[in-house]
Amino acid sequence: MRPAAPRLTAIALLALALLIETPAQTSSSAAPSVSITTAPAPLRAAPARPAALATGLRVSNVDYVTATDLALWLGFKGTWTEPLKTIALVDKINPVNHAELTADAREAGVNGLRVFLGEKVFQRDGHLYISRTDAERALAPLLRPGLGAVLPPPSKIIVIDPGHGGEDPGAENKAFGLREKTLTLDVALRLKKLLEAAGFQAVMTREGDTALSGNKVIDLSLRPNLANRAHADLFISIHFNAAAKDTRGTEVFTYAPRAQHAADWWGQLSHQDSALETTEQPVNRFDRWSSALAGALHRRMLQTLKTEDRGKKIAHWAVLKTLNCPGVLVEPAIITNDSDARRVAVPAFRQQIAEALAAGVMDYAATLDSLRPKTQPAAATAVPTPASNSR
Ligand SMILES: [Zn+2]
Repeated sequence: MRPAAPRLTAIALLALALLIETPAQTSSSAAPSVSITTAPAPLRAAPARPAALATGLRVSNVDYVTATDLALWLGFKGTWTEPLKTIALVDKINPVNHAELTADAREAGVNGLRVFLGEKVFQRDGHLYISRTDAERALAPLLRPGLGAVLPPPSKIIVIDPGHGGEDPGAENKAFGLREKTLTLDVALRLKKLLEAAGFQAVMTREGDTALSGNKVIDLSLRPNLANRAHADLFISIHFNAAAKDTRGTEVFTYAPRAQHAADWWGQLSHQDSALETTEQPVNRFDRWSSALAGALHRRMLQTLKTEDRGKKIAHWAVLKTLNCPGVLVEPAIITNDSDARRVAVPAFRQQIAEALAAGVMDYAATLDSLRPKTQPAAATAVPTPASNSR
């Protein structure tokens, strides 16, 4: 069925992946017994889009890969848990690292967290298919960070963006006296303190109750522009959501990859984001790392806050669009929901949000460090950024 060459390449890449993750476990039949201490870093040598993840099908201009090929590329084992319906992907090295793909679902499970995909997974002729973009830019960054990605510089400068401000209050809950613009600034200032204590340089897009506006018009693009001027390595925009009264919980957004609809487009909010972007936006160069960062923030927030999981989603947020670095927009809680609002009204809870975000940033920075060869200084070993990357 499948050409032999890509399969061989896949096995070679799997061997490299095994080398990267567990130098002590090179006894696998697929992995040659080469010591990692002298070997060049395999990730740096890997092409940006390994041929190993072969296209299985092309439907309506979207490339799909089989779950089996995805598992092979990741170094995972794929098993039907419900025949022709659900496949569990389990890390061969670290079995707690796992994902679940289900036919006709636009949502995947990754290590117990909800991850919304840009395209529906489907079953055909005994194979489960997932879009290549989702496989490479949504799932791989969470399951095998760095696979198929160019390593960005170490995370030093973190730009924190407290959503709204000034004449733009954002969401409100009058019964609890809550305004989004005040809450986002409070959490941002707490996060700034924590990140600085951990040795990061934290830059705020606003320090007071002000809107970012040009010619007296609120201009959301000023926020990523400020981050770019500050040479941000990461960008985190903090918001508190508004939704139907009974809806509560935490959600995390990255900018939608090229030619993908926002997660909510498929549901009742389609009117809010009906456009498909057919060209790549500046932040799309960092889709994989934005997803990895989102995953770290998502996991830490859910663990710490014990809120309802509304998932990792994609959307066309203007505050992320023109970033020259990975960027994430977080909605730790929904303040129009009284049960979430009751918690957010307490300063100790807002401190917990900041601590979860700081821990997520540190997890992400540690992941980057772990992927960098240890034998040379970090700056000298960073992969040259592609020509299109003007950072
Ligand atoms: Zn907001």
